[in-house]
Amino acid sequence: MSTSTETEARNFIAGGWVDAAAGGHEDVVNPATAEAIGTMAASTAADVDAAVAAAREAFPAWRAQTPARRAQAIFALADLCQANFDELARLEALDAGKPLTAVREDELPGVIDGMRFFAGGARTLSGPASTNYMEGQTSIMRREPVGVVGAITPWNYPLWQAVWKLAPAIATGNTVVLKPAETTPLATAKLVELAGQVLPSGVLNLVQGFGDPVGAALAGHPGVDLVSFTGSVRAGQAVAHAAADGVKRVVMELGGNAPVIVFEDADLDASFETLAAAGLYNAGQECTAASRILVASGIEDRLVEGLAAAARKLRIGDTMDPATELGPLNSAAHRDRVEGILARRPAHAELALGGGRPDLPGYFVEPTIVTGLHQDDELIQEEIFGPVFTVQTFDSEEEALRLGNDTRFGLAASVWTSDVGRAIRVGNQLDFGTVWINNHFAFSPELPVGGFGESGYGKEGSSLGVEEFTRVKVMTINAG
Ligand code: NAD
Repeated sequence: MSTSTETEARNFIAGGWVDAAAGGHEDVVNPATAEAIGTMAASTAADVDAAVAAAREAFPAWRAQTPARRAQAIFALADLCQANFDELARLEALDAGKPLTAVREDELPGVIDGMRFFAGGARTLSGPASTNYMEGQTSIMRREPVGVVGAITPWNYPLWQAVWKLAPAIATGNTVVLKPAETTPLATAKLVELAGQVLPSGVLNLVQGFGDPVGAALAGHPGVDLVSFTGSVRAGQAVAHAAADGVKRVVMELGGNAPVIVFEDADLDASFETLAAAGLYNAGQECTAASRILVASGIEDRLVEGLAAAARKLRIGDTMDPATELGPLNSAAHRDRVEGILARRPAHAELALGGGRPDLPGYFVEPTIVTGLHQDDELIQEEIFGPVFTVQTFDSEEEALRLGNDTRFGLAASVWTSDVGRAIRVGNQLDFGTVWINNHFAFSPELPVGGFGESGYGKEGSSLGVEEFTRVKVMTINAG
């Protein structure tokens, strides 16, 4: 069997590279140029069957390994990723349409660090003490792997998402079938190729293809014990329905619509660069993006001017140019979606910045600021997932909280104020899994990520995210 190549993303099943059983292929496109740069295996349910069978077969031997041995394998993968840093970064930039510098400086170092954290984390699992809770009876709590994990990832952070699922899953003794997003198969295929050098056959399998049929087959497969899903609410609901038939565990990391609450006593001048970066990083295709700004009445004009100036400074263009800071949207279909939301803006809305397409090939949209919106407008209630800020005003702390919490999402929020009491008070009442104070968009593998409401359930990252991939068993011994 030949290997996958950089431009031919195939399936990796039971330690070997294979084409889709039905032989289908799809073009992979560079969103920055709209040119085809390779192909992806367009797999079907038969490929999922083969991958799940391989993962099931590998499970008994892998779960029997010590945590130390499993951690060593993930450490070895991290070392291989470091050694192949340039190629991984280039592939991630190519099909995701990310500025190469952002991948090299921000994402890939974090991805590799995360791998090491999760490897170590699986060696220090928590639980109540083993002791005699009943007279003469000793109880032991075991944390065990769940079994075969189906991991389904989105296109906005292909490597990051894959690693935050497969590293803790494998380190805790599970085996994995991974399905990347259909528009971003390349860097994940390279990562799996490297993993194949350090993991036994069948521990990590890769099936490329579309959400339906591949993701759907994985979510409903009787041989899969847990589905870890990151993506849209629509697809998450389909996954949860499919998993329910087998009463399967699911971790759901879905969309967001982060409020950014800026009070009149905030250090406004210091906030602009952070806000511009937190709203426009990855062209705003970020589930925690600082997109929905709520600002105290009276400082709105200063905020809009400062934010627009910071946004204009970001270099947009060729993603392979090291100076580029802002790339395109991931696909023509996604650009159509973002442009559609902007085009449908109500008459009372005003464009304070952007709104159009820059004169570039590929799927670019200009950084955009929309003001004058009402709370029930689509631009406020929907996740835009593009380089777009909305700005609304409030007149009191209560109103800021009411508007901030008025969303079906609950992933992330931020509060900007120099009043510590207010920061804590407002932060405590925000219904979001992550709340930043005087900052936005700061992550570390030690901290759990996960939302409330339609943003999903379960955690990724931290010891909590590692333990999502375990099941708890209590053994009680009657010692007589
Ligand atoms: P998407 O839901 O279209 O796709 C995500 C993945 O699900 C892809 O691999 C896709 O092929 C697969 N999929 C699609 N339909 C499926 C189905 N019926 N059954 C099984 N799998 C299916 O989402 P996307 O557009 O790739 O990603 C963007 C979304 O992801 C945004 O809503 C964003 O907020 C969310 N996201 C959330 C987090 C988080 O941590 N909460 C992180 C990143 C992205």
